[in-house]
Amino acid sequence: MTVRTLTLATSLVALAAPAFAAEVNIYSYRQPELIQPLLDGFTAETGIDTNVAFIEKGLVERLKAEGARSPADIILTVDISRLSEAKEAGVTQAVESETLNDHIPAALRDTENHWFGVTYRARIVYASKDRVAPGEVTTYEDLADPKWKGRICTRSGTHVYNIGLLSAVIEHDGAEAAEEWVTGVKANLAKRPEGNDRSQVKSIWAGECDISLGNTYYMGAMLKDPEQAEWANSVRIEFPTFADGSGSHVNISGVSMTASAPNRDEALAFMEYLASPEAQAIYANVNNEYPADPETPPSELVSSWGKIVPDDTDLTAIAAHRGEALKMMERVNFDG
Ligand code: FE
Repeated sequence: MTVRTLTLATSLVALAAPAFAAEVNIYSYRQPELIQPLLDGFTAETGIDTNVAFIEKGLVERLKAEGARSPADIILTVDISRLSEAKEAGVTQAVESETLNDHIPAALRDTENHWFGVTYRARIVYASKDRVAPGEVTTYEDLADPKWKGRICTRSGTHVYNIGLLSAVIEHDGAEAAEEWVTGVKANLAKRPEGNDRSQVKSIWAGECDISLGNTYYMGAMLKDPEQAEWANSVRIEFPTFADGSGSHVNISGVSMTASAPNRDEALAFMEYLASPEAQAIYANVNNEYPADPETPPSELVSSWGKIVPDDTDLTAIAAHRGEALKMMERVNFDG
């Protein structure tokens, strides 16, 4: 009883003196250089300060360990699997906001409002300009065709991006077909999976393979780097679709409010800012991701890659296959 009274007294003090509480605490898996322009824009508009802890791994574990005493208000991360994981662990809360619902399409937010996508990115094919003809890359399923034998490069099959793609194949084609597919893709690999998405493009540039799997925004990142620009210029982005007619596989970066958020109003203001046209344009131009809000156009560079038709399959349904996908990758010894 005493504890409860004290807690109440504390929050009343906080309410009575909003000037002292005008801050929001963020746990972020996203890099500082990407989110700094957003933090600056938010503070300029609202006067609310931001404190960020950049976390490399174990964000959910940390929130669980901190429990009700956690200073965190906001989680920023990439990948539906991480957003779902946080929700399932009970470290997030539902947020009711007309602004968020207006700006973020239903397909890119949690049905129970625990997470909201702020950008999306596609997992596509980088194809050699010299060795792959336009139109040669068609569906994800086609990547298992023997015509690609010895021509495909990719990072580890157990990386969260490839687990996401395999989960989508399971959702579209069923587990049995998905296992056949991933076995076929492995048989077509030019070399053992290693390195990141950009090193696969380097391999195409070096003539070691003809196509690779990668996320769209890495094209933008490579073009900004003097050495990597040469790799980027040796390839073209192709947008595969699924054989059932669904569009290209996409994943999101997103935001959640923590279950224990001490600065709830400020956290809500921050979430709504991320969905605003100003913040959506920053996302589009700083990292070359697709803004979640269809009203905000992608950057000119991203638009130059061609028109994307995103797969509109429910992301939660795809993420539900994650455990199965990981076991499948291990069973076919994808990285072996
Ligand atoms: Fe990435």
